[in-house]
Parts: sequence; structure tokens; C-alpha cells
Amino acid sequence: MKFGGTSVEDAQAIGRVAEIVRGRLRRRPVVVVSAMAKVTDQLLAMGRAAGGGDLPAALERSRALRERHLNTARELVGPESFSQLRPELEHDFDQQDELLRGIVAVGELTPRTTDYVVSFGEAISSKIVNAAFQTRGINSTLVDARQCVITDANYTQATPLFDETNPRILSKVNPLVEAGQVVVMGGFIASTSDGVPTTLGRGGSDFSAAIVGAALEAECIEIWTDVDGMLTTDPRVCPGARRIKVVSFDEAAEMAFFGAKVLHPATLLPAVQKNIPVYVLNSRNPKNKGTCVRKRPPGRRGSFTAIATKKNISIVSIVSPRMLLAHGYLHKVFEVFDRHRCPVDIVSTSEVSVSLTVDSGRDVEAIMADLRRFADASCEDKMAIVCLIGENIRGTPGVLAKVFTAVAEGGINVRMVSQGASEINISFVIEEDDVAEAVRRLHARFFESEPKQRRVKRATAWAQAVTAPVV
Ligand code: ASP
Ligand code: MG
Repeated sequence: MKFGGTSVEDAQAIGRVAEIVRGRLRRRPVVVVSAMAKVTDQLLAMGRAAGGGDLPAALERSRALRERHLNTARELVGPESFSQLRPELEHDFDQQDELLRGIVAVGELTPRTTDYVVSFGEAISSKIVNAAFQTRGINSTLVDARQCVITDANYTQATPLFDETNPRILSKVNPLVEAGQVVVMGGFIASTSDGVPTTLGRGGSDFSAAIVGAALEAECIEIWTDVDGMLTTDPRVCPGARRIKVVSFDEAAEMAFFGAKVLHPATLLPAVQKNIPVYVLNSRNPKNKGTCVRKRPPGRRGSFTAIATKKNISIVSIVSPRMLLAHGYLHKVFEVFDRHRCPVDIVSTSEVSVSLTVDSGRDVEAIMADLRRFADASCEDKMAIVCLIGENIRGTPGVLAKVFTAVAEGGINVRMVSQGASEINISFVIEEDDVAEAVRRLHARFFESEPKQRRVKRATAWAQAVTAPVV
């Protein structure tokens, strides 16, 4: 069970976490926690202040963090336990201040030191959560994640070394779980084989949970956050948006590309590879069944799972008669984008033209100048990509017709289309101003008008998936 920053943001939130964990005790949970909300950002700002030589500003930030954490701990555990916990926390913050003085003394903040600075967030939050569990009668033990998750030395974005990490997790965590202890660990933080603190990249606690869950071969991984799982589309655009009950790993990956911020599926890979389902749940609404991410969703032939959009897109169109029957032309075109380090999203080609989409503002003027050296190139802004995602559209005839009929009925002009690559998404480009209308029409067509009978069948399939046993 992983609890993100907002799930441990204050004493009340941590109290809720304790109750959620208590409700899972029979399933022998291991708990991974983030730093309290906003703490990682504040630690980074503190480190930068020190790196810039401003010791008073850095120490002031450190003092504010000390106060927040001590107040939270005091409120959570009561005066008696707090008198034991306090010296430990004070010691950590003293160490933090010492580190800041060191950074000011050497006059620079390296990535290696940055990781040391931010590691205090999870190191301390996990101590407080563990103490809160204990005072609530939960048999819990703190395990230092830095002694379990071993990474390379790519500071701020380290990669786990599974050959070292997995045996460590098994030897340090498993015996405690077997003995009936709830293990509490900080997410995001790790260390090199030599014991130098590292981190797994921003938002890395989900990754930690997947690493630990995969090593222990957990029956499931729960990512507890502050929303009811993933939604079929952006509720601000389409009020009819609903919770997605089951999503495949590949679908979730497509959604993340379009900015679905709930989780980054790449971080779940260790779990998904082992076929361990991942649930996204809401610590403020624990009764909600959330969204399950798994390797393959149960069959829903012909239906979509989500509609994602990406605004602020430009269409670059390149026309050249020289393209006719020539080879190497596309190479030449893409070489320009490569040189400008500009990612391209959608591409469509004809014999003499290529259209592609890029994020607006990405050096587009310079790219256009380079393209015009060998072709007619034009650029249109204020475009958007709409993307329908669904594993089960593979091999289903007539889906495209339904999509474009729904869009055409809104009088919306489709500028580019792409289906293929992954076979689980249909993407098309329209004007930005048409996005809301298009999404509402598509959502109504594919998510709100299923025949009753099918919906019941689907609900049963989902219910089975959602009630799978949980560790
Ligand atoms: N605390 C870290 C961050 O804010 C890791 C996490 O919360 O997942 O990036
Ligand atoms: Mg997060």
C-alpha cells in the first residue's frame, strides 16, 4: 500500500491512513509513504537557497519543516510517545541543518547532495507514520528504504539494480511480514551499493511501491491518492466522465502520455511484469473501488476505455514535389526535428506531403526555417489531439465510422487521423476550440449509451477484477 503526499499531509490524513491499513491487516500489508505534501518541493527550495550561499534562508526553511513535522507528530502520537519520538526527529533535522551548512561551505549543490537533501522528506514522514501506527495499536516496524532499494549513482533519477534490491527486500522485509508486522518504508528514496542516498525521480514513491510489491510477489499493489482512481475523460471538459474500473497497462501508458496525472504507468512496470494488479484508490474516500491497472483488462470488445486530449498543438505541413518516388525524404524531414530535439506526435503522409504535429512553441519558427530550405512548409497553431484509447478496438470493424460520425454530427472538421501503431488508440487532430464539443459527443456515444444488458455483464466482469485478493 502506497500513500502519496496528500494522503499523509497532516495528522488527520495520517490518522485516516492508519484506519485504512487497519482494515487490511489480514492481508499483511507493507506500507510505502511519500513525504508529506509539498515537502519535497520545499526541501529542493531549501537546498537551492543553500547552494546559492543563502544560509539564513535555507535554515529558515529547515526550521519551518521541523516545526510542521514536530507538530504533526505531537498531534498524532500524544505527549507520552512524543517524548520518545521527538529526540529522533530533532536529530534528523539537526543533521539536515548540518548538511545545509556544509552546502554553503562548499558553495555548490550537486545532484548527489540534492538527493541527500530531499531524502529527509520520506525518511522523516515514514518515522512519523510508523509511530502513528504504533500508538494506534498496529504492530508496525520501520524499515529504512535506503537499505533495501539499491540503485546506480544516477542521482535525482536513479535506476534500481534489481539483482541487489530484490534479495535485500526479501531478507529485510519478508521476515517481518511473516512475523505479523506491518512494515513501513519511505518511498522515492534509495541508495547506491555504497550507501550514498539516491532518489528514483519525482513522483518516485509509486515506483518504490512497485519495486517492493514485485520483489515480495504481492497479490496486489494499492496506490492511495486523493482522487477516485482514473476517469474516462477530463471531468472539466465533460461532466459525464466516470471512473474507469479496469484499465490495461498499455492503455494507462497511452493516457499518461496525454497527461493523465494520476499515475505514471512506467513506474508500475516491475509489478505489471509480474502480473500483479495495481489499484489506484482514494484515501479520502476509501470505500470507492478505484481503478485497477493490470496487464490485460477483461474483454470489452469494441469499447473504449478513455478519451484523452492534448491542446496547444501545431500542425506542420510539408509539401514537396521532390518527394514523389524519392527515397530518404522522410529521413530528411525528421532529421530537422531531431536536430531541434523536438518530439513529433502524429504523422500522416501522402506521396508529396507530410503533416505532423508538435507541441506549439517548441522552437517551431527555427524548425520551419530549416524545413523551408528544401520544401514548402507551413504551420497552424491552436490545434488539439483527441485520442480514444481501448485495448478492445483491435480487430473490431466499424469503430472508425462510429467515431467520425459522432464528430461530424457536431460539424467538427477533422484535420489529421492516425490509427495503427499501438492498435489501441485512434488519434485525430481538430481545432482547439472544438475539443469540448468533440469529447462530449464521443463520450456520449461510447460511454453513456450502452445497451443495459451489456452494461450488466461488464459490471460483473469488473466486480470480479476489483474484488481480487489484496495483500
Ligand atoms: N516525494 C516525492 C516527490 O514529491 C516522491 C513522491 O511523492 O512520489 O516527488
Ligand atoms: Mg505521486
